[in-house]
Amino acid sequence: MRTLAVVGGGAVGLAVAWRAAEAGWTVTVYDPRPARGASFVAGGMLAPLSEGWPGEDRVLAFGAAALARWPAFAEQLAAVAGSSMFVAEQTLTVALDSADVTDLRTVSDWLAGFGHDLRVLDRAGVRALEPALARTVRAGLHAKTEPAIDNRRVLRALQSACAAAGVEIRAESVAALDELPHDRVVLAAGARSAELWPGLPVRPVKGEILRLRRRPGVSPPPARVIRARVHGRQVYLVPREDGIVVGATQYEAGFDTTVTIGGVRDLIADAETILPGIAEYELAEANAGSRPATPDNLPLLGHLDDRVIAATGHGRNGMLTLALTAAVVPALLDGATPEIVEAAAPQRFPASQMPSLSQGGVR
Ligand SMILES: Cc1cc2nc3c(=O)[nH]c(=O)nc-3n(C[C@H](O)[C@H](O)[C@H](O)COP(=O)(O)OP(=O)(O)OC[C@H]3O[C@@H](n4cnc5c(N)ncnc54)[C@H](O)[C@@H]3O)c2cc1C
Repeated sequence: MRTLAVVGGGAVGLAVAWRAAEAGWTVTVYDPRPARGASFVAGGMLAPLSEGWPGEDRVLAFGAAALARWPAFAEQLAAVAGSSMFVAEQTLTVALDSADVTDLRTVSDWLAGFGHDLRVLDRAGVRALEPALARTVRAGLHAKTEPAIDNRRVLRALQSACAAAGVEIRAESVAALDELPHDRVVLAAGARSAELWPGLPVRPVKGEILRLRRRPGVSPPPARVIRARVHGRQVYLVPREDGIVVGATQYEAGFDTTVTIGGVRDLIADAETILPGIAEYELAEANAGSRPATPDNLPLLGHLDDRVIAATGHGRNGMLTLALTAAVVPALLDGATPEIVEAAAPQRFPASQMPSLSQGGVR
């Protein structure tokens, strides 16, 4: 029987463990706090188009391919969980001033070049879709095919799926990959992956995020994900069954996950600028996490040496790319090289950044 250690039990590690166990591997996940990392904190948008910007063609292509995998993946998780993973079917990016309107047109034109048809709606068009948005909203980019999932529901479903597939989850931290007794290892330790593979180009990018709960008698959340730029800051509202997730700040702050007054203040102020009704909601949770970022905003999926495979560096898109990661890592374990992962091969970064196990690169 082939044995596999998955280091890290966030969404990525759990999804890989589940699929690998189904493919015949005997899988052990190591994580001192499974399902509580960035994956627990995330907003849950699956937004490769709305997040795109001219020039980021490779990130767009990878994200669009990842999104295409989600319906089938979500169906399998729904079969395990007994409920849908999706909380919204569409995304609307709104503009508050003329510069924002110009940007929406720029993105729309760029996306059209890749066959993605996203319309720029005028004020009336936006209001027809989302009447509760502020009257100051001037236009909106309508992504009809960009949904959002409930990341915590996904994590619970993945934990159930792992249990059903016979995955063992050990609440232990791994100090060195070469001490693990398994045949193969998948490194899925999120923002901390470089601690186990020094030189791996993954760094933490801090994000603060709020969860608002709808009180009785208060207007419902928007039907779609709403994104905007307010005072130069990005803000998004992701609907949930019982409220709205408001995200997210973005800082280079090492592994600090303190929630700051300034972060909460800006998120609330920016969200209220878009959706005045949120003032009536309960502030249920303020949290922060570390996005596992890479220099080019594409993940690291591929062999680090003969034994270890990287499944990390998913940055701000780990939920979006989850279904793809869950499919390609078991394929890599079996010796295949799916074409789509070429863009995410760790070897795209200089070899000097990634000493191999045999060179003594792992503590
Ligand atoms: C505020 C915020 C909002 C976000 N919103 C979105 C979004 O809307 N859409 C989207 O697609 N993505 C979003 N993301 C990004 C997404 O959350 C991440 O890309 C994704 O969760 C990464 O998953 P992961 O499993 O690699 O990491 P994590 O979920 O962080 O899991 C890594 C795990 O590794 C474990 N670990 C670390 N070191 C060790 C060790 N030595 N031994 C054993 N285990 C170890 C940790 O305990 C942790 O559980 C957001 C992130 C943040 C912070």
